[in-house]
Amino acid sequence: MLLEVKDIHVHYGKIAALKGISVEVNEGEIVTLIGANGAGKTTTLKTISGLRGLTSGRILFDGKDISKMPGHKRVMAGLGQAPEGRGIFPGMTVHDNLLMGAYARSGNFDKELAEAYELFPRLAERRNQAAGTMSGGEQQMLAIGRALMAKPKVLLLDEPSMGLAPLLVQQIFSIIEEINRRGTTVLLVEQNAQQALSLAHRAYVLETGSVVKSAPAAELLDDPDVRAAYLGGG
Ligand code: ATP
Repeated sequence: MLLEVKDIHVHYGKIAALKGISVEVNEGEIVTLIGANGAGKTTTLKTISGLRGLTSGRILFDGKDISKMPGHKRVMAGLGQAPEGRGIFPGMTVHDNLLMGAYARSGNFDKELAEAYELFPRLAERRNQAAGTMSGGEQQMLAIGRALMAKPKVLLLDEPSMGLAPLLVQQIFSIIEEINRRGTTVLLVEQNAQQALSLAHRAYVLETGSVVKSAPAAELLDDPDVRAAYLGGG
């Protein structure tokens, strides 16, 4: 197992946001976390990447306990994140944003740059444009491209489809599939449960800080409770 989240509890002040979440991600998988607003999906990702501390529980990555490891060391260890809201550097060019993704590595990044531009031809066309002037979808592509520059073993994606037009949503999801096909394991948080379940191998359903269901994604697509609550129908 590549990533193992074991019974984590996370608080914001006195409020318990995560009440014992356990999630497992095997090498090569796409795993998705779905659930309503406030269920704890983003908090789970932030705790894995080290942006939030945990009250109790453990996170194991590649066999090592990383529960107390600072976030930048987790990136170096192979956890890449494209955060919700993108978090790109608006005043820098697309190209320099991509290079920033490799800051923790040394050497030559030509191969990774070429791969990012191949996955996202739109970024290649706009490599000298200031990132802040790009459209929402383009910024999302840049955030994912930048995360890939660190050559992560696991890519953590927080709502990559948020705010995108339907055609772009399709594009982003097929790029995620391609990234996975090329060997990167993916942990995906999504509001768009239909798309996420269609793409993922396995899924966890979160409700108010707990996992209420976990199963192969295809099974959840046919699950009456999941259909009623998250897929807009019976
Ligand atoms: P969404 O899909 O709306 O982003 P989510 O499933 O990602 O929701 P989280 O953002 O993880 O949910 O939030 C889980 C709970 O923690 C919510 O009740 C939320 O209000 C609370 N929470 C999140 N961030 C903070 C914060 N900085 N301070 C206080 N409470 C917070």
